Amino acid sequence: MMRQYELVEKVNGYKKNADEALLNKAYIYAMQKHGQQKRANGDPYFSHPLEVAAILTDLRLDEETIATALLHDTIEDTDATRKEIDALFGEKIGFLVEGLTKLKRLDLVSKKAEQAENLRRLLLAISDDVRVLLVKLADRLHNMRTLDHMPAEKRSRIAAETMEIYAPLAGRIGMQGMREELEELAFRHVNPSAHAMVTAKLAELVEKNRNLVSTITSELASKLEREGIQATVKSRQKRAFSVFRKMENKRLSLEQLSDLFGFRIIVGTLEDCYRTLGVVHTTWQMVPARFKDFISTPKQNDYRSLHTTVIGPSRQRVELQIRTWEMHEVAEFGIAAHTLYKDGFAPDGNGSEKMNAFATLRKTIAQLAEGVNPEEFLEHTKLELFLDQVFCFTPKGRIIALPKGATPIDFAYAVHTDVGNTCVGCKINGQIMPVITELKNGDEVEIIRSKAQTPPAAWESVVVTGKARASIRRATREAVRKQYAGLGTRILERAFARAGKTFASEMLAGALPRLAREAVDDVLADVGRGELASVDVIRAVFPDYKDERVSHAMPDKDEGWFGLKAGSSMLFRVPGSRAKGKRKQGETPAIPIRGASGDLPVRFSPDGGAVPGDRIVGILTPRKGITIFPIQSPELKEYDEMPERWLDVRWDIEEGSSERFPARIKVVAINEPGTLATIAEVMANNDANIQNLAMHRTAPDFMDMVFDIEVWDLNHLTRIIRQLAAKPVVSKAERIVGRESE
Ligand code: MN
Repeated sequence: MMRQYELVEKVNGYKKNADEALLNKAYIYAMQKHGQQKRANGDPYFSHPLEVAAILTDLRLDEETIATALLHDTIEDTDATRKEIDALFGEKIGFLVEGLTKLKRLDLVSKKAEQAENLRRLLLAISDDVRVLLVKLADRLHNMRTLDHMPAEKRSRIAAETMEIYAPLAGRIGMQGMREELEELAFRHVNPSAHAMVTAKLAELVEKNRNLVSTITSELASKLEREGIQATVKSRQKRAFSVFRKMENKRLSLEQLSDLFGFRIIVGTLEDCYRTLGVVHTTWQMVPARFKDFISTPKQNDYRSLHTTVIGPSRQRVELQIRTWEMHEVAEFGIAAHTLYKDGFAPDGNGSEKMNAFATLRKTIAQLAEGVNPEEFLEHTKLELFLDQVFCFTPKGRIIALPKGATPIDFAYAVHTDVGNTCVGCKINGQIMPVITELKNGDEVEIIRSKAQTPPAAWESVVVTGKARASIRRATREAVRKQYAGLGTRILERAFARAGKTFASEMLAGALPRLAREAVDDVLADVGRGELASVDVIRAVFPDYKDERVSHAMPDKDEGWFGLKAGSSMLFRVPGSRAKGKRKQGETPAIPIRGASGDLPVRFSPDGGAVPGDRIVGILTPRKGITIFPIQSPELKEYDEMPERWLDVRWDIEEGSSERFPARIKVVAINEPGTLATIAEVMANNDANIQNLAMHRTAPDFMDMVFDIEVWDLNHLTRIIRQLAAKPVVSKAERIVGRESE
């Protein structure tokens, strides 16, 4: 196990003025926190974070990253907290360690293949700071190096995960060395027999062609020299895993593989590339169809090189890449590094070349140090598509990918439409939170459901995913339709009763063709919407029925309206009122109206509307629903000839409800200073909200004032009018109902 001073010395070796105190503090803290914990192989647990830190010193990373490596398992595996780490090491390190704690969850997640891409994206997205990802990869590398001590079952799971997720990820951020070591280590566990076979064969072949590399290298060097081309020739040999992958991809035997032996020729100029190609092709026989010119047509990621395969001195196929130093740089670092290896295909970069595996990484870190933020870095490496996504977990560990800005409602719908439709609340990371909370990467979301729920229409404007929006719209439409169908049922019950018949919805089935509707529910909803007249329904059911249109009269107080018995009058719940057991047994059940959210078909006449205590009547307007008028409203005259549209309704307002209703008062007062103040005082004393006031002078000494106020009920309104009338400055105070009728 590395000693404390050795670690510090290593950092000092590549960084001037390193923060030794920080390293020492992190070393001691982590060692104490992990205490007596042991690894699977019996080593003290602390040896693990220490080795991870050591891997990162090989990459010459900064002290913050090294300290983070030392601390990376403390929050998850010891009693250490983010708060404590913040206090001791600063918020930056606290943030990094917490990031790693989040990532650790991934190790617990199900390993289904279709999740692999999500997991890779999650890793990237969650690593707000690329250093989190670097520590995570080093962590994984050390775990892979010490995998032998794990139980067999765990071993193959971890190895498969490394192969599917971590190795490609390392490749994508340009760490080819890390990628290859991870693959190599995983290969042994994922496919032990293939690993053994390829390794043995490879050794055999290398032995057989022992002289090939030196022969080709010297022959190339001398020929190029003769042509006056300055070149560096590098040989490279595949690792077992990349050989195996190629055998699989191309369905070839090991002997058939052309590039077990590869060479890279790096020259000074572009012209030299083609001249070198000429030399190669005149020296050895080229393999047709294997030549590729990525110089005249570079790959999308700017990769440029000439690729060719020739038959070597001992009839062995040899692959060659020819490029300038500049092209080499681009291929090794930067843009090419991740995309070139993107899809599990590595045409080069392997083998004995001993390229500084971490040059790319260091460049990355250098960029960070230069103030390039991680987002810019990711964007630069064309990974920006991950940045507008968030990845969250279900309690069972399934990953749900959502667009940025998504809410738990979106999450619920992403899991399943039913889950969304029955969502009433949520827990985020175990805490009850509002369902409109914006989700963050790594959040675990638990949806609280209720069978009785239908999604509020207002959610439609909150969600960001199309699926959620469409589902909410559908569910809302369905709920409104249900309300209309309920309303239609009541209307038909009443109309049938008036015609001396008893209504049952089964009657409609046979009449559907005559009504030109497809389903009974369509009939009910259309009647409720006022798009189908109840008398037409009666005629469709009873073709002999003669419509004895009775012009309606003002309802008698005792008999109910329109000659109906009081018992059959509809009970209407108005916006803001709460359901309460006011309904008597045997009455028609109330049509459920849910608050003033816009999806209910009830509104109040805008001019001098009804207040609780008024006798009221509903007028059905096609597509608009029901408008409530006070029974004395002159506007009702317009509907005299349309008894179909009249509905009997009544208040269901709870005692002491805080809901207010608009009413209009006309006051005629003496035109003198202080009059308005007197009137305003009455209003204020009675807690009436004045919404609007219109004044005009009718006579030299008088003025008319029309107040729109909000009151609780008729008593409240009457009290205000009485008190106004009692004021000496007021000559007249009266309520106005409906549009001015004078
Ligand atoms: Mn670890």
